[in-house]
Parts: sequence; C-alpha cells; structure tokens
Amino acid sequence: MRGAVFTYHAQNCGGYDYASNDHIAFAADLHAVHEAGLPVVSLLDIALALATRTPQALPSHFVAFSCDDGTSLDWADYDHPQFGRQRAFANILRDHLARTSPGTFTDSTLTDSTQNLLTAFVIACPVARAAIDHGCYGGLPLSDDNWWAEAAAEGLVAIENHSWDHVHATLPASLQRYGAGGDFSSVDNYARADRQVRCAAQCIDERLRPVGKRTQLFAYPYGHTSPYLTRDYFPTLQHEHGMLAAFTTQQALIDHATPVYEIPRLVCADAWRTPQEFQAILRRIVHG
Ligand SMILES: [Zn+2]
Repeated sequence: MRGAVFTYHAQNCGGYDYASNDHIAFAADLHAVHEAGLPVVSLLDIALALATRTPQALPSHFVAFSCDDGTSLDWADYDHPQFGRQRAFANILRDHLARTSPGTFTDSTLTDSTQNLLTAFVIACPVARAAIDHGCYGGLPLSDDNWWAEAAAEGLVAIENHSWDHVHATLPASLQRYGAGGDFSSVDNYARADRQVRCAAQCIDERLRPVGKRTQLFAYPYGHTSPYLTRDYFPTLQHEHGMLAAFTTQQALIDHATPVYEIPRLVCADAWRTPQEFQAILRRIVHG
C-alpha cells in the first residue's frame, strides 16, 4: 500500500489564490483527488493499520487530510478583515461531499465512509492559545475551543492532539516550561513529554467526553521529533499517554514499513505549492 497525508493551516488565508490561501488549495485538492479516483481514508484508519501491522486494511493507494493548530477557521466560516469571507475547512468538505456524494447528510448522521475525513490537531492549553492569538493573529480569538465538542460529535472532523502549548515561539518566557521556544525537539525528557502529550490529551479529552470521544493521535508541533519521543516515550508508555500514533511533517509517502510514531505528512505551501505539484504527488502515490 502507498498513500499520503496532506496537511493545511486554516489561518493561512492571506490572499486570493492557491499559493496564498490554504482554503482555496484545500478545495482544489479535494477536487483533484476525486478526479484521480483516489480513496480518502482517515488518519485513524492509517494509525490502526500501522499499529496492528495490517496494512491490507487500507486501500492499495489512498490519501488522507489533516489540519493543524486548531483555529476556528477549521470549523466556522470567517470574515477576514482584508481578504473577505473564508469558507471553513469543514464547510469546504461538506460542499465537496454534496457535489460528489449527494445524500450524505440527509439522515443528519454521517455514513461510515465520511467519518473523520479531516483530522484537526488542536493545542490544549488555553493560556498558550491566548498567547498564540496575541502573537500570531493580532489578538483575534481564533484559537477558541468552543467548537471541538460539536465537531467531534458530528464526526466529519476529528479532534486530535497537537500538544500542550506547541512549544510555540511566541509564548512568553514565563510559559516556556515544557520545551524551548519554537523547538519541539527540546521535548527530550519524561517531564516535558508528559506535559506535552499526556496532559494535553487529558485536557482536550475533558472537552470531548460529553460527546463520547477522546484523542488517540498526536501531531508533532513544527513536525519536530526527538529520539526520546520516537524511540522511548511514545512506544513504551502508551498505557500512560494513550496515543496510538504520531505524525511528523517529513516529506514522504506512507507504506507498510512506516513507523507508527513517525508517520509522515505533506504540508501545503511547503511540500507542494501549485496544483501541478499536487498532481505530481498524486501520480507518485498511484505509480510509485
Ligand atoms: Zn502546529
């Protein structure tokens, strides 16, 4: 089997074209995947297949979609002060399904094939999220958690773990206790990993518990790993952190030998920048 996880950032909406706006890119890429006839699986499907060494559970060629940092633009349309209305990732997905799979939503419950079609990795700590809003989004409250439970309950967008505080470069020094600013590879001991992974999961799960969901997947902030996390903490302490798999941003495709705590993801505007480059990745998935 061979596939790819494509990753977007809903806060990247500083323009009107594919190269400058992840919403435009996401819509175009969904269409391209549909035209190519490639099946879309969830990140949980990939994690389960790799964790249980049953790659045959996945289609022979597949794609999956995720988005990082958990701004509310993942879930709700947003009126950008300069660039106008931005269609939320969840609504782009619904628009796409309405065109390609009419009737999907007629029961108001999703069919199995549309569960977790997009996985949103969110940041747990509300103080860190407020600092990121201040440092990155001009103080606009874009990192709210008030949509997580609604999304998880519906099931189209899965809510998963993107760490306690992202070890974000914009955090004030007083908050940088669990890693050094902007470098998640500094999470190289138990105390830091416990905060960034287990405590984060516990915090996010509290929001999801009322709708019967919990986190099972982790995405490394900035894609940074450390040998401690990949070789020690994640594989040996699963009974503590509960994470089934972890995702990097290494520019690679997934196959049967992919390590479950280092599953690569391709990031929009980094691994590809044009529809032509995206098509070239789809061809690599199909033809090798
Ligand atoms: Zn991130």
